Amino acid sequence: MRGVVMHAPGDVRVEERADPVLEHPTDAIISITATCICGSDLWPYRGHDRVHNKVMGHEYIGVVTQVGAEVRTLAVGDHVVGSFMTSDNTCEICQAGFQSRCIHTTGMGAIGTQAEYARIPLADGTLVKMPGEPPADLIPSLLAASDVLGTGWFAAVAAEAAPGKTVAVVGDGAVGLLGILAAKQLGADRIIAMSRHADRQALAREFGATDIVEERGDEGVARIKEMTGGYGAHSVIEAVGTQESMEQAIRACRAGGHVGFVGVSHGVSLNGGELFGKTVHLLGGPAPVRRFLPELIQLIWDRKINPGAVFDMTLPLADAAEGYRAMDERRAIKVLLTT
Ligand SMILES: [Zn+2]
Repeated sequence: MRGVVMHAPGDVRVEERADPVLEHPTDAIISITATCICGSDLWPYRGHDRVHNKVMGHEYIGVVTQVGAEVRTLAVGDHVVGSFMTSDNTCEICQAGFQSRCIHTTGMGAIGTQAEYARIPLADGTLVKMPGEPPADLIPSLLAASDVLGTGWFAAVAAEAAPGKTVAVVGDGAVGLLGILAAKQLGADRIIAMSRHADRQALAREFGATDIVEERGDEGVARIKEMTGGYGAHSVIEAVGTQESMEQAIRACRAGGHVGFVGVSHGVSLNGGELFGKTVHLLGGPAPVRRFLPELIQLIWDRKINPGAVFDMTLPLADAAEGYRAMDERRAIKVLLTT
């Protein structure tokens, strides 16, 4: 099969890779219908993470082509969405709704779903069946559920977005934008998008943002306070992962408020004294997308949400290198790859 390999920062190639085979009786093999490039794939692409001959991709939807002897809930031909983290969906951590930290979890990034096929470990727990064969126009949204939508949704839930609340969103990448969509669905009264890019501001408004703040850092925090009677936001979504974005999120949150942080943390170190003084709830990490998948798939199937709008470029898998370039240069918010 063909699949994406990152040889070194900036060097992405589509190559022949070995076809996946069942390794455990709980595995399934899927033929990937659509995959995409994640904002987190840009960390190694830009040289912030070490990378050498690494298979790429952790977002996917597809069709089951083989199942292991112990797979009970799936059959060949099922159309499925899965999380970027595998989970048995039965351990105590999974039962509590934190499937991304399942005691048996592995990351799909090590398997590399920017490819024609993939082996899915713990298939019964990881994959969720769609109601049927997806209409072509729903494919981008269903693919978004695999990570960016699920991650934005977790951030909004962790930030306790709800009726009567003001939600501030730090980060205008695909996850931040879908955090806005989630906050809207969860009934937040006011959603403040922190963005200085006109195209992203437009999408933020389409997804439910009521206000835009262009200022960043301390100025951005001051604007949020000014807009909330001096209190700060009830709920803050952090969707970047840098020192500046994390400080901005914590400082923009009111005492007793909630910060949901889902940007992959890079070099962030928090000041204990400041944190002690803030009195805010912090919950974040790799999103337990599996918890939300059944509900998200249904919302998409019923055409109640359109998260696929974050994909503003579609390329064949063979042109993945151009997709990475476009996202790196911010010519594209998110790139969908067809197999
Ligand atoms: Zn588990």
